[in-house]
Amino acid sequence: MNIESEKSLKLFNSFGFDVSAEFFVSVSSVAELHEAICWSKQKSVATFILGGGSNIVFTRNVSGLVIHIAIKGIDAETDPRPADQIPLRVGAGEQWHALVATTLKLNYFGLENLALIPGSAGAAPIQNIGAYGVEIAERLNSVEVYSKATGDTLLLNAADCQFGYRHSIFKTAQGADYVVTAINLNLLTRDKPNTTYRALSDALTRKGYLRPTAQQVFDEVCAIRGEKLPDPQQIGNAGSFFKNPIIDRQQLDRLMENNPEIPHYPDKPGHFKVPAAWLIDQAGWKGHQIDNVGVHNAQALVLVNHGDGNGQQIAILANNIKKDILQRYGVLLEREPTLY
Ligand SMILES: Cc1cc2nc3c(=O)[nH]c(=O)nc-3n(C[C@H](O)[C@H](O)[C@H](O)COP(=O)(O)OP(=O)(O)OC[C@H]3O[C@@H](n4cnc5c(N)ncnc54)[C@H](O)[C@@H]3O)c2cc1C
Repeated sequence: MNIESEKSLKLFNSFGFDVSAEFFVSVSSVAELHEAICWSKQKSVATFILGGGSNIVFTRNVSGLVIHIAIKGIDAETDPRPADQIPLRVGAGEQWHALVATTLKLNYFGLENLALIPGSAGAAPIQNIGAYGVEIAERLNSVEVYSKATGDTLLLNAADCQFGYRHSIFKTAQGADYVVTAINLNLLTRDKPNTTYRALSDALTRKGYLRPTAQQVFDEVCAIRGEKLPDPQQIGNAGSFFKNPIIDRQQLDRLMENNPEIPHYPDKPGHFKVPAAWLIDQAGWKGHQIDNVGVHNAQALVLVNHGDGNGQQIAILANNIKKDILQRYGVLLEREPTLY
């Protein structure tokens, strides 16, 4: 185990913020993870678990030990297996998009809608990643975790993970003790992609794909994302900065009195999802720049680092947007990325 001191995290977060870790270690097995946790206990320092850094805003240097999860491995269970299904065990340190591409090459289907989401496989259950009508929770059988408190390894069934919209047990006080070491997926052997998401099905129809394959869905998702979302390699960002708020009928009716054109989609009974991007855009924030950070000029939901910005500036900008949206619309926006 190689513990480094004062390690720059600039290349370890998609905003590209120039912060450092007091101590840093990359672990490639559960045994190394255990060793790192024991070291932190001996030294009485805090730990911070890091995957690909694509859903984090570092507002300061990290004190204590940053543990970068680099546990690899993709193993399919081909015999015995349930009909039409392929159980796949994936190490938490595998890169998510590369995994999606690999499964397609192997003719294992079901992840194609989640193409091009940055980050690691182990972080996918943390906020229950979702895109184009599919959430990882639908493809997960169980999650293997390590308890920092006890040093035990546990298997959590998907039903125990409290998955919701960008939510899971790992975002609660109870789950904060767990480090995800592997995920167990249930993929399909039948090429029958989910095209229920309107923007996706429209794009596929325009291309003349009336019964698209998973590969065509994958290609189209990559194309749409490439057009819509800024590439963190070009301009630092963490994807969508706010969740889409879910409001009740009364709140929607009130909003529609002054904003009859507000887009809204049915969610849980009696509730509607409203695009946070629409609210932020209508409030005039799109393209807004302050210091070296701002709101992307084509995508109101994405906050960006224009160059030498820092996490504190992003946090202040996000707070100002949140306050403004609450004042204008009475809607409370919730942050998506972790703030440190
Ligand atoms: C351009 C762009 C587009 C994006 N699009 C989407 C999208 O469409 N849908 C979507 O849902 N998200 C999206 N995201 C957000 C992000 O990619 C996902 O949340 C991703 O799962 C984060 O993975 P990561 O490895 O980078 O996590 P990190 O940023 O490293 O960590 C995120 C959080 O999870 C914790 N964590 C990480 N790994 C583990 C682990 N093994 N065990 C326990 N805790 C862990 C960290 O401590 C942190 O709190 C996007 C981000 C970007 C930059």
